[in-house]
Amino acid sequence: PEEQFQPDPDKKTLVILGSGWGAVSLLKKLDTENYNVIVISPRNFFLFTPLLPSCTTGLIEHRSIMEPIRNILRHKKGTVKYYEAEATKIDYEKRVVHISDGSEITGDVSRTEVPFDMLVVAVGAENATFGTSVCSCSIPGIPGVKEHSCFLKEVGDAQKIRKRIMDCVETAMFKDQTEDEVKRLLHMVVVGGGPTGVEFAGELQDFFEEDLKKWIPEIQDNFHVTLVEALPNVLPMFSKQLIDYTESTLKEEKITLRTKTMVKNVTDKYIEAEVTKPDGSKEIEKIPYGLLVWATGNAVRPVVRDLMNQIPAQKNSRRGLAVNEYLVVNGTENIWALGDCSVTNYAPTAQVASQEGAFLARLFNTMAKTEEIEKELSRLSAAQQAAKNEDERNKILEEIKERQKQLRRTKQIGPFQYSHQGSLAYIGKERAVADISWLSGNIASGGTMTYLFWRSAYLSMCFSVRNRVLVATDWIKAKIFGRDVSRE
Ligand code: FAD
Ligand code: NAD
Repeated sequence: PEEQFQPDPDKKTLVILGSGWGAVSLLKKLDTENYNVIVISPRNFFLFTPLLPSCTTGLIEHRSIMEPIRNILRHKKGTVKYYEAEATKIDYEKRVVHISDGSEITGDVSRTEVPFDMLVVAVGAENATFGTSVCSCSIPGIPGVKEHSCFLKEVGDAQKIRKRIMDCVETAMFKDQTEDEVKRLLHMVVVGGGPTGVEFAGELQDFFEEDLKKWIPEIQDNFHVTLVEALPNVLPMFSKQLIDYTESTLKEEKITLRTKTMVKNVTDKYIEAEVTKPDGSKEIEKIPYGLLVWATGNAVRPVVRDLMNQIPAQKNSRRGLAVNEYLVVNGTENIWALGDCSVTNYAPTAQVASQEGAFLARLFNTMAKTEEIEKELSRLSAAQQAAKNEDERNKILEEIKERQKQLRRTKQIGPFQYSHQGSLAYIGKERAVADISWLSGNIASGGTMTYLFWRSAYLSMCFSVRNRVLVATDWIKAKIFGRDVSRE
């Protein structure tokens, strides 16, 4: 099989793990002809996560926010290889990545090794299932979370939620269902008041108000969304004014907000939460649910944790790979990490991951250019020594000076600097909140105008024109015909 891919022995092999925000942003700007590039990811597409909550209710069809990695790579120059596989182990000493094909169809070979000279780890994070949003992976998961709840990170998660919403509704409508059971089945509980939880709760309530209650009026009195948050408020990354605005909008939407409520246990029909009362006392409460969506932030992936364990300099890192200001993994010289699998001073967002990806592309392009000039310089200095006369020597010297100037210019690449463009979140009822950096000041705004801004901003950020057209069409379709409530 190796004859399919012949790496150029004169070029370094650059292996990129992942096809998310960080990896794709790197690939977009990377001059791929300078390296033997190998991309490895179990997902053969890029996913525009900001619009994923809208896929849970069918407002947007999931394929509208996916872009095939093959389409991204086919426009690149040089050798770029893609393997649909998961990196199961990164062997730092041997400089190889062990990969495994975890898809439904596997061939005779489904596990192998990929050697690398340079490695970029952009595998993102997995869902946290323990009690705090700050990951410390030694804490065991909250019992029952993995078995009974839905997450909201991948396309499959959104599809599962979409199916379950309708399953709960149809099961609640089953002949002779008891009143308590109807109430339970129609109780949609969202755990985690970060942006994922808030956006999903808003989308779900919209679905109920705009479509479900018209199609199935019998559920009107019992369909109910509750948002559960351990801290005293939701959206901690937003300003106080926008937090207040969000909380009052949730109330207006009739979403019940349960703050200071920390979920401790999950069963198939109810959650058990520790509620802190106004007087500071604590009480355990059972909250029955039909659908449970768990959105309590990020945890470190096992492959990343394993790499951290191989590198002594990563000993004190808890939330992911500690990197320096050039995104080099501390304790290594040929591994870079970016996005949600790395730890920096910035929040784990798409905005940060994509800026880091663009930075790494510039860095690698510069490194390749520098190497090329250095090779040329050593060729010229050999030629200078072999020159037959003074004239020829002087001519080569001029060329050397020119190359040295070029080298000085090329080498000037500073450390990664994040430029925060602001935070945006949809909160339901055609309203959004935004903390935007504008010129040198900050604008904090909430409401319908912000919602229109949110829509146009996300539409313009979609990966391709094709995605933009599909998303806009989905919005129009839902406005005219309503969301599709078929369960498939
Ligand atoms: P990801 O984009 O998660 O990509 C990781 C990639 O690695 C994937 O392709 C995955 O398949 C692959 N992978 C996983 N395991 C392996 C393995 N073992 N080997 C190889 N490949 C692997 N951020 C914002 O800034 N604005 C928003 O509006 C916003 N909205 C969001 C909405 C939702 C519902 C969610 C879940 C997140 C949102 N985020 C938002 C956060 C943002 O999506 C993440 O910060 C961003 O995806 C991180 O990029 P990444 O490249 O590190 O990881
Ligand atoms: P998050 O870490 O931002 O929030 C998780 C919330 O869950 C926290 O407020 C935490 O207190 C709460 N929590 C944890 N354990 C709990 C428990 N047992 N019971 C009750 N509450 C509990 O997670 P997220 O919303 O998934 O976001 C992850 C990252 O993605 C963040 O960096 C976020 O900024 C980014 N993101 C951004 C957007 C946006 O900009 N619109 C949207 C989604 C995600």
